[in-house]
Amino acid sequence: MVCLSLDELYKEVILDHYRAPRNKGRIDPHDIALERNNPLCGDELELFLRFDGDTLEAIGFEGKGCSISQASASMMTEKILSIPIKDAAALAESIKRMMAGEEEGDPGELGDLVSLKGVVKYPVRIKCALLSWNTLLEALEESGKTPS
Ligand code: ZN
Repeated sequence: MVCLSLDELYKEVILDHYRAPRNKGRIDPHDIALERNNPLCGDELELFLRFDGDTLEAIGFEGKGCSISQASASMMTEKILSIPIKDAAALAESIKRMMAGEEEGDPGELGDLVSLKGVVKYPVRIKCALLSWNTLLEALEESGKTPS
């Protein structure tokens, strides 16, 4: 067995999601579609959400850009599909704190998302990692699903 350093392991997880993104593609019907980009890096993301009461019933994304931005979107959709909207919003806030270095992040809770921690060392890439999460929070707010 090859022994990977934590950095290499993070990179593997990110590349895996980049090469085989989960929940890629628009979903119809959707309750909201929101397009945002990260001009610093040229990342583009469009997020599609469908709600069932207080749950995220379906989620999809379209986009292009660097591996971190697209892998982050893939991991996000995988993690928040079918969970209560308030939990998805709380997770987004938690990821933002983790990327700001204010929170360690619980690997058991975060799963693959913990690999985003490897990006904290590269401040210019943090916006790439947070593009999907910020778009999610904005979409939830625009839908009236979270208190603004
Ligand atoms: Zn990027």
